Amino acid sequence: MSSSKKQAADLSEFVRPFRVADPQDFRLGDFPTKEKGGLDKEKAQTILDANRERLHGLQERLYADDRWSLLLIFQGMDASGKDSAIEHVMHGINPQGCDVHAFKVPTSKELDHDYLWRSTVALPERGRIGIFNRSYYEELIVVRVHPEILEKQRIPAKLVTKNIWRERFEDISSFERYLSRNGTLVLKFFLNVSKEEQRQRFLDRLEEPGKWWKFSMGDVAERGLWDKYQAAWQEAIRHTSTPHAPWHVVPADHKWFARIVISSAIVQAIEKLDPEFPKVDRKATPEYERVRKALLAEAPKKPDDKKRG
Ligand code: AMP
Ligand code: MG
Repeated sequence: MSSSKKQAADLSEFVRPFRVADPQDFRLGDFPTKEKGGLDKEKAQTILDANRERLHGLQERLYADDRWSLLLIFQGMDASGKDSAIEHVMHGINPQGCDVHAFKVPTSKELDHDYLWRSTVALPERGRIGIFNRSYYEELIVVRVHPEILEKQRIPAKLVTKNIWRERFEDISSFERYLSRNGTLVLKFFLNVSKEEQRQRFLDRLEEPGKWWKFSMGDVAERGLWDKYQAAWQEAIRHTSTPHAPWHVVPADHKWFARIVISSAIVQAIEKLDPEFPKVDRKATPEYERVRKALLAEAPKKPDDKKRG
């Protein structure tokens, strides 16, 4: 095994326990929120730095290979740390190969289309990493918890039946299978924060003027619906965890540990794709040699020629 493959294999202990492998038995309450994986912050930083470096190299290969793309979906309750996880995990990778999309309440133009439309146009191109901060999964969660949102979608009435959620589970799974069959690797992260930690983070937001902008009264109202959200998430994860688009239920009470799980899962996944730098066509090599000689022959002769444009 090459040393890079071995390193990726070593990350399994931070990924496997949190990947939903038996979806039919999935219970959100079985997954920890406070886990630290036997690490402290200092050890975690070493792993995070190593992951960051590996990710940088892997992204370069992904980009050069220009065949695969990676779609990373971040979901979680309010204050679960989606923004900061995205910020920290992607820190240090080349912004040219990466796009982040934050999905908000759909606009009227978006509501003129089917619910996957706005995501479809935001999908990453080959060779790139696309990050969805929230996603079409909101269609199984907030829309389910608030049926009035579904009404605004103007779906023909006779298509809205009691089967609508089962149909959406199927359609989303099929969409992700389609993406995977076309070379988009989909990884999904649910930042699993406890209700107590959310309370603390809301309090922090209220108590520090620098964090007031993050606070929204709406978030408090949604906190009141905590159990409904958790039930919706449990069902959604149960029905949309597949080998080609796995869910990771990431312990999120310690932000630093969440970053370890997420970055390890990404490193492992790209490592498995094993993107390659394009091979240079042997027949082109003599041509390279000719061009190289010609460029050398152009070397400036007089001191004046040395000045470059
Ligand atoms: P934030 O991520 O805090 O900026 O909030 C974005 C808001 O948009 C959240 O309250 C989401 O529930 C909401 N949102 C995102 N996608 C949808 C959707 N498809 N339908 C309804 N609301 C959505
Ligand atoms: Mg918010």
